[in-house]
Amino acid sequence: MSQKTCKNCTHQFEVTNEDIAFYKQVSPTFNNQKIQIPEPTLCPDCRQQRRLASCNEQNLYRTQCDLCHKSTLTQFPPNPKQGIYCRECWHSNDWDPCAYGKDFDFSRSFFEQVYELKRNCPTQALSIDGINVNSDYMHYAGSSKNSYLISHADFCEDCYYGYGFKHNICCVDGFYNLHCELCYDCVDVHKCYGLKGSQDCVNCSSSSFLKDCIGCKNCFLCIGLRNQEYCFKNKNLSKEEYDREIAKIDLGSYKQYQVYKDQLKQAASGYIFKEFHGHNTENCFGDYLVNCKNAKHSFDCEDNEDVKFCYQTVLGAKNNYDIYQYGTNLSESYECIISGGNSYHLLFTNEGTINCSNLIYCWYMEVSKNCFGCTSMHHKEYCILNKQYTKEEYEKLVPKILEQMIKTQEWGEYFSPAQSLFGYNKTTAQLYYPLTKEEAVNKGYKWEDYEAPQPGVKNIIKATDLPDNIKDVKDEVLEVAIECPITKKVFKIIPQELKFYRQQKIPLPHFHYEQRHLERFKQRNPRKFWQRNCQNCQKNIQTTYSPDRSEKIYCEECYMSYQS
Ligand SMILES: [Zn+2]
Ligand SMILES: [Zn+2]
Ligand SMILES: [Zn+2]
Repeated sequence: MSQKTCKNCTHQFEVTNEDIAFYKQVSPTFNNQKIQIPEPTLCPDCRQQRRLASCNEQNLYRTQCDLCHKSTLTQFPPNPKQGIYCRECWHSNDWDPCAYGKDFDFSRSFFEQVYELKRNCPTQALSIDGINVNSDYMHYAGSSKNSYLISHADFCEDCYYGYGFKHNICCVDGFYNLHCELCYDCVDVHKCYGLKGSQDCVNCSSSSFLKDCIGCKNCFLCIGLRNQEYCFKNKNLSKEEYDREIAKIDLGSYKQYQVYKDQLKQAASGYIFKEFHGHNTENCFGDYLVNCKNAKHSFDCEDNEDVKFCYQTVLGAKNNYDIYQYGTNLSESYECIISGGNSYHLLFTNEGTINCSNLIYCWYMEVSKNCFGCTSMHHKEYCILNKQYTKEEYEKLVPKILEQMIKTQEWGEYFSPAQSLFGYNKTTAQLYYPLTKEEAVNKGYKWEDYEAPQPGVKNIIKATDLPDNIKDVKDEVLEVAIECPITKKVFKIIPQELKFYRQQKIPLPHFHYEQRHLERFKQRNPRKFWQRNCQNCQKNIQTTYSPDRSEKIYCEECYMSYQS
């Protein structure tokens, strides 16, 4: 084990023997020569921040495909211009990424050369997977139908404004909704049906404003319940009594909806909760983990095994370190973002998807293997800086480049923030590690001042001038833009969204969808641990509930016996 000082924030961090064994195991081999990955020079948080600074999940811009000239959305801001192909053109034979290939120049930095290649070679406008029907407005999503502005989402139908949506039908305004139907304004709900304004629930249905409930139905404003029905503000009622209480409530009214939302928040602030979120975990340390084994320092993972410093990886990710999204059957990989889809042994790669293997320092690759410093390719092998080599040439040249990169101290580091294509403020890094423009620029990050133009609508109304109740909303609302009181950005209601609100008796939103996303994000615990004591047995625990919070936090054992 060694103690190290982070090169960036100067905090101390530990590299354990187990970590060292992992770095050794995933170190690449060329011609029987293993080239050791050095120990990290940044602490886990600074590594995650650096990775996230190259990932724009939320900001989309209207542009044209540079090949077929069709209108498309893209994640890339207009300046400086990035060559963009629509999904169809990118996958077509009408162009060849190897035409942008370059010889490696030993007199220059590797990162600089990859950055030039990235800038020159056209890339896909958005990151979309699978077959999608009538779902043009999405990014980092796939296999969905009739959906709009969903991200980190797959297998969804009729879903709008969701983040972390998997296998959902008719879910709107959510953060981590898995296998859910007809859920609105919910955060971290699994296998739920017909929930509104709820958080941390599993197998619940036909209820509103629940928190930390499992197996409950027909409940209203309840916390910490297991397998209950007809509970109103945590009180057991008869069906008749419950119906009478519910009849007095009209959640179609924006004012009433906010009142109950605030009441849930108030009630939860004095309640007892478990030290972490998630279930079915074995030998894990992290938060929001489901079905995980040996997952350490990891967050928002499902079906993971032997992983460390992994975030939002799902479905069979195994033996990985430092991965941000998405992981589906990803293994033996280190320092990657948005990678997975049956991929193996990816190092320092951004978007290695669908059957990729042995990629090092690659960017936006599909179905490719044994490539080094390549960008925007599919079905390629033995390429360096997008230039084609034979297997023998490849195995000879890569170790030479790595030798050079050891000298320049580039080997073992993720792409530098100066080479991100996005301003720090437009990336996921700003969500988890917020910086002012000045701070970001001082740290070598870019900043993006450009804002996409507002939708072209003549009539803009203030959110407070909307009818309070959905039943009073006329179809004309589709013709106006609503001004968000916080961001001052305007947004439109789309017809299918209005239909959903009317059917479910939900008031119109008053805030821009980016602001709504941010509010839901803030409802969750941060990715940070604090030392505190179980408020029942006084045992020492590490938890994402900071000590100054008003909830009572129990260790897992005490929470279990309190619940039974
Ligand atoms: Zn650090
Ligand atoms: Zn095109
Ligand atoms: Zn305890």
